[in-house]
Amino acid sequence: MTDHSRQPRARTRVYDLERDGLTAPEARADLERVAEEFRIRVTPEMRGAIAEPADPVAAQFVPSAKELTTRPEELEDPIGDDAHSPVPGLTHRYPDRVILHITKTCDVYCRFCFRRETVGETGPLPEDQLTAALDYIAATPAIREVILTGGDPLTLSTRRLASVLERLSTIPHLDQIRLHTRVPVVAPERITDTLCHILRAAPTAWIVLHTNHAQELTPTARTAIARLVDHGIPMLSQTVLLRGINDSADALETLLRALTKLRVKPYYLHHCDLARGTSHFRTTITEGRTLMAELRRRCSGTMLPNYVLDIPGGHGKVPITADHFTQGDSPGHWRVTDRNGRTHDYRDPATR
Ligand code: SF4
Repeated sequence: MTDHSRQPRARTRVYDLERDGLTAPEARADLERVAEEFRIRVTPEMRGAIAEPADPVAAQFVPSAKELTTRPEELEDPIGDDAHSPVPGLTHRYPDRVILHITKTCDVYCRFCFRRETVGETGPLPEDQLTAALDYIAATPAIREVILTGGDPLTLSTRRLASVLERLSTIPHLDQIRLHTRVPVVAPERITDTLCHILRAAPTAWIVLHTNHAQELTPTARTAIARLVDHGIPMLSQTVLLRGINDSADALETLLRALTKLRVKPYYLHHCDLARGTSHFRTTITEGRTLMAELRRRCSGTMLPNYVLDIPGGHGKVPITADHFTQGDSPGHWRVTDRNGRTHDYRDPATR
């Protein structure tokens, strides 16, 4: 098999963004400080999708001085990956599923990423750690599902990805392998027939596409998504609710309709996590619920994602519904019940 390993991915420099008119010279000093804290990378595909500075694509990838503001509630590991790691490279938070952090590399570095402290710090999981993680999965029959994510699994070489999928496919108690990825949108040239055949050869592989705005769905990205679906690979999507990017019913409806037309089932709408330097992206829970109510009025059930919160501190994901959320003692204060019946406080940004 040909190994389509890709060239090492260089970071995008503040200078390059400034030269392209995406950042202002007077912002340079602050943005260099942002670049010291958090990695910056924009692919040519996403650079081409930016129509003007600060539009819904630019705002996801072009850094802002607002990232230098850290609020007290923001966390380095907002969803608690490290607190549930039995072996390096693996997060085992729920009994029936694990996250396998097969690589820390992404093709883009999203400004709101909840793993922004760790993405890009290393490349693929070293072979000895990968073997230990696969041994743990094989020895734990309660695990039914493996999620490859955080970095992006489709940044791996096809040879390495094929090897991991083959090894996972020999574990009889696995029902599903999910690959969470930005690649079909941000680097659609990567979605070759060879890659599709590798994915199709893993009988339980699903793709979960991370996309936040219809403007990301360039003609090349749409072709890449169609290629995956045409090869028989089932696809879901996940979206982060982001202030100033997609926090309107019109923007979300357009995205959901586009995804459904591409035969991608909208799966999750994530409330923006408490990652360091991301408060400018975060909506309130009430704003998110109001948007979901409007989407339910406008869209059929096939298009609707589940609006969810990863409870800060690693307590797991819950749907933002009356079953799990009750009003606290003041506006914007919520009592959140996790899947084990324990309650946690959550406060909206405007009320902190
Ligand atoms: S592609 Fe995903 S993991 Fe990578 S920076 Fe963006 S949100 Fe984070």
